[in-house]
Amino acid sequence: LTILALESSCDDTAAAVVRGRPGAAQVLASVVQGQDDLHQAFGGVVPEIAARAHAERLDICVKQALTQANLTFSDIDAVAVTAGPGLIGGVLSGVMCAKGIAAGTGLPLVGVNHLAGHALTPRLTDGIGFPYLMLLVSGGHCQFLLVRGPEDFSRLGGTIDDAPGEAFDKTARLLGLPQPGGPSVQAEAENGDPTRFAFPRPLLDRPGCDLSFSGLKTALLRARDALIADKGGLTEQDRADLCASFQAAVVDVLAEKTRRALEVYLTDKPPEPVLAVAGGVAANTAIRASLETVSADVGARFIAPPLALCTDNAAMIAYTGLERFATGKTDDLTLAARPRWPLDTASPALVGGGK
Ligand code: ATP
Ligand code: FE
Repeated sequence: LTILALESSCDDTAAAVVRGRPGAAQVLASVVQGQDDLHQAFGGVVPEIAARAHAERLDICVKQALTQANLTFSDIDAVAVTAGPGLIGGVLSGVMCAKGIAAGTGLPLVGVNHLAGHALTPRLTDGIGFPYLMLLVSGGHCQFLLVRGPEDFSRLGGTIDDAPGEAFDKTARLLGLPQPGGPSVQAEAENGDPTRFAFPRPLLDRPGCDLSFSGLKTALLRARDALIADKGGLTEQDRADLCASFQAAVVDVLAEKTRRALEVYLTDKPPEPVLAVAGGVAANTAIRASLETVSADVGARFIAPPLALCTDNAAMIAYTGLERFATGKTDDLTLAARPRWPLDTASPALVGGGK
């Protein structure tokens, strides 16, 4: 099967072609056009601007993906598209474009949940079997998913406030470091003392796999302001120590909650236990190293897909479309764009016409 896919749920316009079958597919082309330049002046993604840019660029991305794969529409079996969750204007741009392609070429249309795309990425990159445990950590999400099948997800827990990527970005902003915050905070942390500031480890005293990151941000703000009040500013070392202490808190919280999620996952005695990660925060080397240790401790394999497939892309949407299409599921032209679409209710029936 050869699947073309479109992704436009946030601030990346993307198209990709994936070929193969469930558990054994490869990426023939993956095009991602970021919009950082368009939103920089506003300090965050402006939904209206994002939607317009997607509408303008999707066509071009699709053409580029087909050219890269050296294919035409006649070689494609189905068109997959992110139908949610995400910024509704962007999702609509993608869904409209995919419907246009489906109507114009007669190709079947397959609506895909963006989070399912992230969650199934290790099946695309490493061909692993079910069930596995997925930790999705990005700028917008943080959750543990028990993945039992291409459309069978259970959410074991997740953040009750900010996502870790958001916390990294806010930390960078508070310390005057460049965006995106993750890489700059990580770089500073390498020269810092992680024990200088005792930042909170929220929710560790409570059972379960839920996480919280907003208190951490407040604690960092207080520590920063105390230093400024005391000495009139921050030294290089202060900044590095703040970053290192912040990152250490995130690492600890993620490690402990992952331990608990693994415990739940392992009670079913999966034959080949796997912990996989997805999302931009999975790029963090300290977080990766700690999750690797936590997995090794319980005899689970640890999988972190290449970064280009961890952050938003259309290859994961094409692959997820392939999994649905392979079981005979398609959508018709009434496929709806959904701003909210929690994964554990991600039954195939999309609002407005799934089969
Ligand atoms: P989503 O895809 O969930 O809607 P998003 O598009 O913001 O959200 P991603 O593109 O997956 O998320 O990841 C971007 C986030 O990853 C940013 O918040 C960024 O700071 C964070 N990030 C990137 N590299 C690192 C790193 N080395 N350490 C920590 N965080 C990082
Ligand atoms: Fe995403």
